[in-house]
Amino acid sequence: MKNISLLGSTGSIGRNVLEVIRQFPGRFRIVGLAAGTNGRLLREQIEAFNPEKVSINDAKLAGELAQSLPPGWTEKIHTGTAGNVAVATLPGADTVVSAIVGGAGLTPTMAAIEAGKNIALANKETLVMAGHLIMTAAKRCQVTLLPIDSEHSAIAQALEAGKKADVSKLILTASGGPFRNLAERKLWSVTPEQALAHPNWEMGKKISVDSATLMNKGLEVIEARWLFDIGVENIEVLIHPQSIVHSMVEYVDGSVVAQLGVPDMRIPIAYALSYPERLRMNLPRLNLAQSSDLSFSRPDFEKFPALKLAYQVCKRGGSLPAVLNAANEVAVEAFLVGSIRFPEIALVVAETVNRLPREEAASLNAILDADLAARMQAASIIEALQIQTRQRLGKDILSPDLPPGQTTLTI
Ligand code: MG
Repeated sequence: MKNISLLGSTGSIGRNVLEVIRQFPGRFRIVGLAAGTNGRLLREQIEAFNPEKVSINDAKLAGELAQSLPPGWTEKIHTGTAGNVAVATLPGADTVVSAIVGGAGLTPTMAAIEAGKNIALANKETLVMAGHLIMTAAKRCQVTLLPIDSEHSAIAQALEAGKKADVSKLILTASGGPFRNLAERKLWSVTPEQALAHPNWEMGKKISVDSATLMNKGLEVIEARWLFDIGVENIEVLIHPQSIVHSMVEYVDGSVVAQLGVPDMRIPIAYALSYPERLRMNLPRLNLAQSSDLSFSRPDFEKFPALKLAYQVCKRGGSLPAVLNAANEVAVEAFLVGSIRFPEIALVVAETVNRLPREEAASLNAILDADLAARMQAASIIEALQIQTRQRLGKDILSPDLPPGQTTLTI
């Protein structure tokens, strides 16, 4: 029996993790759950899995949750980052699934490693922000770190076919997102709803927008650089719209080993939970005879500058990947609420990276400082952009719900 603490239990990955666990009750037991703000779903999960300890975003939500549970639950409910850390370091947990979205996953993931827990990692931002520190700590604490990200799971599986010293490059595939075929100028008018409609994968909001900008692939390049200890110049990205080949490894003899499958996150989740064994999953099988042709092409770095930026930032290193990540989180949030337009996400990130110095990322605190500075810088760039846009349009673009012609502000 493997005891599991799940961070990010109510998100898209978290729900899929619980589905896999529900299918194998004799193999896995949930001991801890940490959620964000979805108290209703967390309560259902508590009733289904009876964990020892849970965490939710804040005290108000914790109070509501306690009221809806039998007496005695109050002291098992924790809150905020400290709550996530408490769930991540539960003495009875063998493996921690890190599936919190964004930079908020870093501190509890590091705490889990230092408590000697094996990690199944869905939170790529942890490695983007602090790859060097995380990998060093994992080695020191002798824990295994297995990726849940489908591309990295594919690479981990393809690496089982040869020796690390014989790898010549990693090839990450990308679906290209919903705007792959859209003319560049039309990107200025795409809506959050369009960006959230990913062609192949069902995912949370943040990662769906990241897939549309290709920032997700940029973050994955940085994630791969640390996870597999390989130079960024040996990591290639290929657009593969069908999302069947999840990624590949090229060896020095010219052999390319790929992992294929239907696009379903339960497959990489099951692999990370049960490694080195494989679970007999009851899922639709890949039918290559019925699949459309598999196609591959180079990404368009001009149309999707976020990917190019991530490569540059990965090469420069230090605190800059954390800056890139934080600025992106702020910009995606601003896009989702209609404050900036789609191409401005990459502009805000690029400008934030330009304005902030490259610091050494020698400690978790130094990285968290860089993260905070980047969030503030990105917010001020977004504000300046909004003022510029209002001036150019002569109306308030921030009120999309108003009837045409009616505005709250005219400059
Ligand atoms: Mg991925």
